[in-house]
Amino acid sequence: MTLTTRFAPSPTGYLHVGGARTALYSWLYAKKNGGNFILRIEDTDLERSTQASVDAIMDGMTWLKLEWTHGPYFQTKCFDRYKEVIEQLLASGDAYRCYSTAEEVDVMREEAKAKGGIEKYNGLWRDRTDHPADKPFVIRFKNPLAGDVVIKDMVKGDITISNEQLDDLIIARSDGTPTYNLTVVVDDWDMKVSHVVRGDDHISNTPKQINILTALGADIPEYAHIPMILGDDGKRLSKRHGAVGVMQYRDDGYLPEALLNYLVRLGWSHGDQEIFSREEMIELFDLKDCNRAASGFNTDKLIWVNQHYMKTMDPEYVAEHLAWHMKEQGIDTTNGPALSEVVKIQADRVKTLKEMAQISRYFYEDFTELDAKAVKKHLRPVVKEPMMLVKEKLAALTDWSPEPIHAAINDTAVELELGMGKVGMPLRVAATGGGNSPSLDITLALLDQKKVLERIDQALVVVEARIAAS
Ligand code: GLU
Repeated sequence: MTLTTRFAPSPTGYLHVGGARTALYSWLYAKKNGGNFILRIEDTDLERSTQASVDAIMDGMTWLKLEWTHGPYFQTKCFDRYKEVIEQLLASGDAYRCYSTAEEVDVMREEAKAKGGIEKYNGLWRDRTDHPADKPFVIRFKNPLAGDVVIKDMVKGDITISNEQLDDLIIARSDGTPTYNLTVVVDDWDMKVSHVVRGDDHISNTPKQINILTALGADIPEYAHIPMILGDDGKRLSKRHGAVGVMQYRDDGYLPEALLNYLVRLGWSHGDQEIFSREEMIELFDLKDCNRAASGFNTDKLIWVNQHYMKTMDPEYVAEHLAWHMKEQGIDTTNGPALSEVVKIQADRVKTLKEMAQISRYFYEDFTELDAKAVKKHLRPVVKEPMMLVKEKLAALTDWSPEPIHAAINDTAVELELGMGKVGMPLRVAATGGGNSPSLDITLALLDQKKVLERIDQALVVVEARIAAS
């Protein structure tokens, strides 16, 4: 039998990092075992499900390259099948019609509690056949009255729940629509899911689902309940903690490889290794090595991982992602250096691709405004002479590459008996508009020669103005 896992999000919001991590673990486990990975959209809550959320989930998974092998399946397309199984459970005596109203059930719950038991429906209609003809009813599953359910959880170990703790749960509402626990069971069964990987917020549903599967004579899948992700403050991760939708991380300038690497480590470890390529993750990941306790989200670490990938991945590849950010920031990169060249010199200067785009604008766009602080500090009257001389030397170059550029700057400094910085800094401000850039010879080499000379002239105008004012 082929190992089969699934990711089964409800499309009631974007794909958040918790969901993405669940999807990743589920995908990894399938991939590692040469199995199937199903994407199942649990959209039966018609009021809260939206197409925008479906798109956001698929966009997020696509961006992270978590390719599903089957699906996407939509539960709203399977209502006939759910109905069929509900009928089957009624016919076999494993389910029954319950005519108690919601208010009556509330009273039963209170009574049970008053007697010191757990709050639950008292089974009034469990064995009755005197069904009223014209009253609305729900359909309940006949949960076993005695015995235990054991969840053999691959992450948490064995968890035993007594059937006495469990209700006869509703599997069809009074309008006939199936409930969550029923649809999940039917789909996991029909789709031959062998491993259910999901958040541990679902752990209370698992014994109910096991009981229904047993009643249906279905195989019980293996379960792996993944602990929650907490924010830096120890509280459950939520929107309050900032960017939690996966696509927000793209917008903020993270590489998908970085987020994936960060997420795999958030709840799983392999010795003290931090960096895992996709292939390594697939090879080394195992559900049984997942942490049992919740993990805390740490943005500083994510930044660290992102920097690692920006610096070490193929610059051509990083450039594809940088191109997206350039476009996003309205920077036209048609004329100027290849983006991969920019990646090579900027990668170790920034935390994110968004920042990389921000500080690389001068490679592609002319500017008339210079950074005021840099002007004040570096474009002083005394720089007129070195600027004129270095311009002359740069203009004379026939080979516009780092080495001769470096020599031109150096020769200027030597000739005028100045430190390199006294020539380099004004030149940097002139060429880039500010006092920060990668090594000057490489930066200038990436800029067009003519452009650099024009920018020196532009800066000289500023210097002249200062001379006139002094
Ligand atoms: N649809 C459920 C959710 O989004 C997940 C159900 C499951 O994995 O069994 O929380």
